[in-house]
Amino acid sequence: MTILVGLDSIMKDGEKPRTDRIQRNKIPSFKLRDGDKARFRFITDADNIIRAYFHRIPIVFPSGKMWNEDVFCKREEGIECEFCKRVDEQERKAGLKLCSWVYAYEIQHKFQNPRLQKEEDAEVWKKNKSGMYVENINKAMFWLSGVGKDKVLLKMLANLNAKYGTLLDREYEITRSGFDKGTTYTIIPESPSAIPENIKHLNLPDLLKVVKGEILSLNPDEKPVLTSKEKEEAEEIPIARKVFKKPAAKKTKVEEEEVRHDADELF
Ligand SMILES: [Zn+2]
Repeated sequence: MTILVGLDSIMKDGEKPRTDRIQRNKIPSFKLRDGDKARFRFITDADNIIRAYFHRIPIVFPSGKMWNEDVFCKREEGIECEFCKRVDEQERKAGLKLCSWVYAYEIQHKFQNPRLQKEEDAEVWKKNKSGMYVENINKAMFWLSGVGKDKVLLKMLANLNAKYGTLLDREYEITRSGFDKGTTYTIIPESPSAIPENIKHLNLPDLLKVVKGEILSLNPDEKPVLTSKEKEEAEEIPIARKVFKKPAAKKTKVEEEEVRHDADELF
């Protein structure tokens, strides 16, 4: 925030969309959609997994391109949160998330890479024996996950940690089914295996800073060479916030629990 002098500049500032203050997070994120199955290992152990609340803010570029950005809700820290004051109910509510670093090997999808429809050079995913399309990843990713219906994911992770005393000693296979408040997860632990050397030596940024949106890239000091597409994107300035109203869904108990405001404590 800066002090403004002069009615003209004050008026102009008021016309700026609020969304221009949201920066896109460039850290690779581990995203599972309905039907996806992934193989991964935890880099963050149970003691350091972070619970936080996030707003989902839709952002639209002049080109019509849009994405939903998950924005940390500062209210948990006792700091005023501008998104908690949003007029739109979908944006105002903050959802409960678990945050960790994971090393993702692959994600199997029910459908072919949707990017192929827009980008010629997008990766073609190969079909495996089970008829799933395999996206090879092999890198560290930030996992911002909902807890699932009846907090199923949280409960499963707590059970696995109680059983093995750590989450780091093996790979896991996770499957997501359903979406929104009907989302459920299953996690299958593999046999124990040593942490691979390349994972041991990853130099990842502080998880808490990533959660808070204070770090938005894996290499904050480096100036990465942008592809022409990324450059175009970077030069575009979001102009409007588009609100996609979903048909009013009945609020389930789970939804009430996941959507803070009555500050349901978990740990
Ligand atoms: Zn908030």
